Amino acid sequence: MHLVRLDITGFKSFAKKTSFDFNVPIVSIVGPNGSGKSNVAEAIRFVLGEQSMKSMRGKRGEDMIWNGSPTSPRANRASVVIVFDNSSRFLNIDFDEVSIERVVHRDGVNEYKMNGSSVRLKDIMELLAGANIGATGHHIISQGEADKILSASVRERREMLEDALGLKAYQYKLEESTRKLEKTDENMRQVEALRREIAPHLRFLKRQVEKLEKAEALRASALIRFRTYFKQEEVYLETSKHSIDSSLTTLNKELDTISQKVAEAKHSLADSAEDKRGTVIFEVSSALDTVRRERAEALRKASRLDGTIEGMERTIKSASVPSQEITKLVEEGEQSMQSLESKSVAEIITYIKEFFARFRALSADSAHDSSDITALKAERDEARESEKALAIKETELASSLDNIRAELDAARDNERDKERALFELASAERDVRHNLSMKQSERERLSLERAEFERELEEAGMLIGREILGYQAEHIEEKASREHQSAEKRELEKTKIRLEEAGTGAGADTLKEYKDASEREAFLEHELADLQSASASLKDLIQNLEQELSVRFKDGIDAINAEFTKLFAMMFDGGTAALVRVAEPVRRRIETPGEESESEEESGETVPGIDISLSIPRKRVKSLVMLSGGERALTSIALIFAMSSVNPPPFLVLDETDAALDESNSRRYGDMVEALSKKSQLAVITHNRETMSRAGILYGVTMGNDGVSKVLSVKLEEAVKVAK
Ligand code: ATP
Repeated sequence: MHLVRLDITGFKSFAKKTSFDFNVPIVSIVGPNGSGKSNVAEAIRFVLGEQSMKSMRGKRGEDMIWNGSPTSPRANRASVVIVFDNSSRFLNIDFDEVSIERVVHRDGVNEYKMNGSSVRLKDIMELLAGANIGATGHHIISQGEADKILSASVRERREMLEDALGLKAYQYKLEESTRKLEKTDENMRQVEALRREIAPHLRFLKRQVEKLEKAEALRASALIRFRTYFKQEEVYLETSKHSIDSSLTTLNKELDTISQKVAEAKHSLADSAEDKRGTVIFEVSSALDTVRRERAEALRKASRLDGTIEGMERTIKSASVPSQEITKLVEEGEQSMQSLESKSVAEIITYIKEFFARFRALSADSAHDSSDITALKAERDEARESEKALAIKETELASSLDNIRAELDAARDNERDKERALFELASAERDVRHNLSMKQSERERLSLERAEFERELEEAGMLIGREILGYQAEHIEEKASREHQSAEKRELEKTKIRLEEAGTGAGADTLKEYKDASEREAFLEHELADLQSASASLKDLIQNLEQELSVRFKDGIDAINAEFTKLFAMMFDGGTAALVRVAEPVRRRIETPGEESESEEESGETVPGIDISLSIPRKRVKSLVMLSGGERALTSIALIFAMSSVNPPPFLVLDETDAALDESNSRRYGDMVEALSKKSQLAVITHNRETMSRAGILYGVTMGNDGVSKVLSVKLEEAVKVAK
């Protein structure tokens, strides 16, 4: 027993909550016309997710809600709850009891709940389809719908049979898989389109990245070379600076020493220059000249006096000279002699000239006497004495002059040596100064080279980046020659040009873009592979499902046919009936221009369908259209029961399916109902006493003046009464 209970609240004529228990194989619902019996069948349709309002005799959701009566106000919502016993797990959900509720509100909004939790309609449909409670409602045969299966087209009939055979679950799967396949194929097309779209950009980016990688490789190799070059340059600059600085220090020291020596030598020379010996020589030689002149004068005087004396003595012999006068002159001369000592030679000469003039006048005037001669002799002796003294003085002065000259010569020799030494020192100083200026200009040149080095470093840094500064940590085996460095510099200049051409500007952006684009491409490739494999497995699944469906359908039809023929023969006391698989041609409309009328023609395509072939004993009935109403009812009941017995639904609702049956057929119907109730629970709505008699529970539905359906459990006899 699967169906446990049905609670109807506010649904159609069931204004108040009304419950039906279904814990017996057959439940019969009876009651007068219009009391609301069919509303019960519709409540079951409704709660199982029926979307066609028409099949529930309404136009919109609102029509399902209790509409009110003069004594009872209308409801805002209609709710139907169906409760299943799921201890056998006929519903694929892990609950022993499953309640499904559907609520519709006046605004047409529907709510679905499963065991109190909100769910989607789809979830309910899937769950039910798995238990052969399909959407086409083959298990709910509404009033007058029994021969629906007979009047349906071959195609519709096929669908109804598929549903009854429980193939809907496969079909859902098939449809879903086909939808998924279409979606997958669509996604594949989109992914392929996307890949085609990004491919040129990706190729472009790849080329850019290759260029960048080349540039990066160039940069990396240039970096090593630049670092070595700069290290060599730095070593060169440092060692050169060190060597120049130490040379400068040495040279400056040397210069200091030499300069000091030069100063000393100059000082010494200056001292020599101040020597007074030259003046002394001049003075001594002047004095010597004077002494020599005086001596010669004294000699001449003595000689002259000798001559005078001689003359006078001869005169005396010839004449006499007053002696007193001469004596007086001599005395005067002698007195003057003392004062002459301090006189100069010129003054002495003048004096002597005057003396002689006076003497000559005296002698001329008078005769000389012998006293005058004596005086002259004395004067002559004195002159001789003076000459002798002067000779000694001359000798002394000459010797002193010789000494001074010898000293002066010696001093001059010494000075020349000093001058030579000074000259040598000055020359050495010049050399040192020259060397110093050479070193200074070397240092200036080196600072220019240092500036050039800084400039080159900055330039390389701009091209290669900060890593260039790592040159300081470079280790070099041996110092490179300047020629090698110059050659390297020329090569690096070429490298710089190549680096500039390779460009480094938007490198990071391009790499990022390429990374993103190739990740996207890889993602798309992967996605496409996934989609391809999904598509392949979906195709497999579809093929399997189609095969399964086809096999199950064929087997199902065969099984139904066996049952159908049996039941048909039972109903008609013989005869045969069978479902026949046919291919229905698809027809399409043709519109003829200018003409109002339309015609149809076969498209050449076919769809699979199911036809019914039958033969009734003693009648030449070959087609369904030839059957009477009762015969149609019997045929459809036989088919419905055959379908239900082959793949029994958990429950079956039959709404006055027995309406057209005569008494003997009602019995047969009753037998079939009973037989079927062993496989499916049955809820039969009937006016037929025979049918009622087979039910375990009888519900009587009545409707009072308030238009509200009421339900009560009744006994058979009451039921027969209620049904009238
Ligand atoms: P019969 O034996 O003639 O087939 P029945 O017992 O099956 O009759 P139903 O067709 O189930 O009767 O019930 C029809 C009744 O339900 C009508 O009286 C109708 O007015 C009432 N009904 C239908 N929809 C609503 C609604 N939304 N609100 C109130 N009453 C409604």
